[in-house]
Amino acid sequence: MLSRTIEIQAVDTQNQMDATVAALNRLVRNLWWTWNQDAQDVFEELSPRAWRHMYHNAVAVLRELSDEELRVRLLDEEFNGRVQGVLRQFDAYMNASDTWAAANAARLAKRPVAYFSAEFGFHETLPIAAGGLGMLAGDHAKSASDLGLGFVGISLFYREGYFQQSINAENWQTEYYSQLDPQNLPLEPVTGDNGEPLICTVEIAAEPVSFCAWVANVGRCPVYLLDTKLPMNQPHFRDLTQHVYGGDDSTRIMQEILLGAGGVRLLRRLGVSPSVFHLNEGHAAFLVLELMRERIAEGVSFDEALAETRGQCLFTTHTPVPAGHDRFSHKLMNSAARHFCGQLGVSANELLALGRVDPADAGEEFCMTVLALKGSRAANGVSELHGEVSRKMWHGLYPNESVDDVPIGHVTNGIHLAGWMKGPVRKFLRHKLNQADSGANWAKELAKPEFWARMQDASFVSDEELWALRYRLRRELIEFARRRLQDQEHRSEPKDFIAFDHLLNPDALTIGFARRFATYKRAPLVFDHFENLVSLARDLRRPVQFIFAGKAHPRDDEGKRLIQKIIHMSRHSKLSGHLVFLENYDVHVARQMVSGCDVWLNNPRRPLEASGTSGMKATCHGCLNLSILDGWWREGYDGTNGFAIGGDEHPDNVDEQDRLDSENLYKVLSGEVIPCFYDRDEIGIPRAWLGKIRRAMVTLAARYDTTRMVREYAQKFYLQE
Ligand SMILES: *Cc1c(COP(=O)(O)O)cnc(C)c1O
Repeated sequence: MLSRTIEIQAVDTQNQMDATVAALNRLVRNLWWTWNQDAQDVFEELSPRAWRHMYHNAVAVLRELSDEELRVRLLDEEFNGRVQGVLRQFDAYMNASDTWAAANAARLAKRPVAYFSAEFGFHETLPIAAGGLGMLAGDHAKSASDLGLGFVGISLFYREGYFQQSINAENWQTEYYSQLDPQNLPLEPVTGDNGEPLICTVEIAAEPVSFCAWVANVGRCPVYLLDTKLPMNQPHFRDLTQHVYGGDDSTRIMQEILLGAGGVRLLRRLGVSPSVFHLNEGHAAFLVLELMRERIAEGVSFDEALAETRGQCLFTTHTPVPAGHDRFSHKLMNSAARHFCGQLGVSANELLALGRVDPADAGEEFCMTVLALKGSRAANGVSELHGEVSRKMWHGLYPNESVDDVPIGHVTNGIHLAGWMKGPVRKFLRHKLNQADSGANWAKELAKPEFWARMQDASFVSDEELWALRYRLRRELIEFARRRLQDQEHRSEPKDFIAFDHLLNPDALTIGFARRFATYKRAPLVFDHFENLVSLARDLRRPVQFIFAGKAHPRDDEGKRLIQKIIHMSRHSKLSGHLVFLENYDVHVARQMVSGCDVWLNNPRRPLEASGTSGMKATCHGCLNLSILDGWWREGYDGTNGFAIGGDEHPDNVDEQDRLDSENLYKVLSGEVIPCFYDRDEIGIPRAWLGKIRRAMVTLAARYDTTRMVREYAQKFYLQE
């Protein structure tokens, strides 16, 4: 009898163990763990070295462990208990029925929003985004999931992702790529009923091109990534999805046909019938032509097909910078996109007219933004000022309207707070809230203004502990920077040796600047007053230091020159030791920097920074913004919650603007930022500075969260017929 009980217990344990192992394998294939602290702690503990060396990749960690090792580790009751806790949180999250959308957007559950974006940034293990546009798309998907919104994403699976940056002996950016292995990534193949990979086709340059798809599970929302690397394709089509915005215009237009037309075809094959198609930037606009093709094939006229398609589409434009609006030559359209003429029953010229502001102007190239605007019932910019600028920019398309009546509104961007928040801050706030878990409730708390309002209250969080947290985060950044700099230097000549452990000062006011090195962002602006800045930086009592990072587009030599200039200064000027450049800016570097810096510098040429989002990531870490009143900061800044460079206006003349902005930047830095940071009480605490941090948290954190943003999209656009 006894031995039988033991036997049953053994079988139970075995079954439970099998279930846990299976559940962990499901869990790692859902990006939910990227915004859950307890899950990350578990994976880090399973293999600290793999966790770090494989760039915080839970899939790779789990593959690193043998089945045997994993099962033995789970015999540790305490550890197993935490694993079960994570799995319970995950289950509760995935199956929650009391979501915001259940009460407010139930209609979208069956007929979801289909969100098309050429890039999605989720996490450092899946580097398929080039910059802010992709990060925003990733954060949009995460918040859609948190809210329980019916949402599917469409993008491409770039086999070699976005480029990695290294800097050569001439301080010049060079690019290299590494192959992504889907087996090692939080992705699953999309399969058909027979369990085999689902293969669809799309016409490109009048040829059929096959593609398969991968799904990134973003909590409850699937994001499908299209992939042409299939043996039946010709070699040049096989490599079509190799790089984010890879190659020349010809690759670009073909990628965009795949994204727009292929994305719709995949959704149809999967039986998904979206109620709204959301075009995140013009790259996806060919979906308009595919939707029209479907209607025309059913016998509807061209005009009706366009009207019906318009009724389903929504377009978000992301930049006033001309390079951000794809324009394709007639020649390219006639080679890569000519099949659309046959499909839509129109002449080449009629097709081209869909992408022209003036349909009759044969000299105008085909613009994807124009197609997106003509094919959508509503459009928006990504901040109030950007909405205004976009209405002016596209007024030509609506000649009978006044500028103010151009139908482009705005929804200001946000970030997915739970995803961007660094571990120590998550733990600090959770401890304050006395919350046992970091599951769904925690994410909901974070999105509430009432939660952040408590940061005003010194009995909730004291100045002392807030300052201690700031010190900890700054220290973590500096140690990260030292490690990175040491690795960077190893690759160059040994004579460049620096004593890395003495590089950067953990007590100094640390100013961060990390973004794409597009020229309008003016990375070196702060160094325009070089000698003055040197005296500020080297002030022994009130030292200041700068950490820079960012990639230039591979074909942007102007941007690469700016990087070169900054690295040169960091090595060969009086700023050496007070200025460093970290290579290979990505999500991980971004998180380190926005959390560890005291000040987040943003000095674009207004009004070209449509929104900007990196500054939003700073707030919850107690890093203050110092920014031109452009994009989101023009709305966010209230005089108490950070610093403004200049006022709510700018000169028309660009040289004058640069001169004025650098002067104002220096003025605010020397007259407000530095004095405030170093204004300490008798025990060394900067009370006024901490007051600003509290104000920033109270006024900005919940407002610039994608929870607010996605709800706004839902209410303004997704739920309108
Ligand atoms: C947030 C983020 C961006 C966008 O930042 P901006 O302020 O819009 O320039 C770009 N790249 C990475 C890696 C980011 O994390």
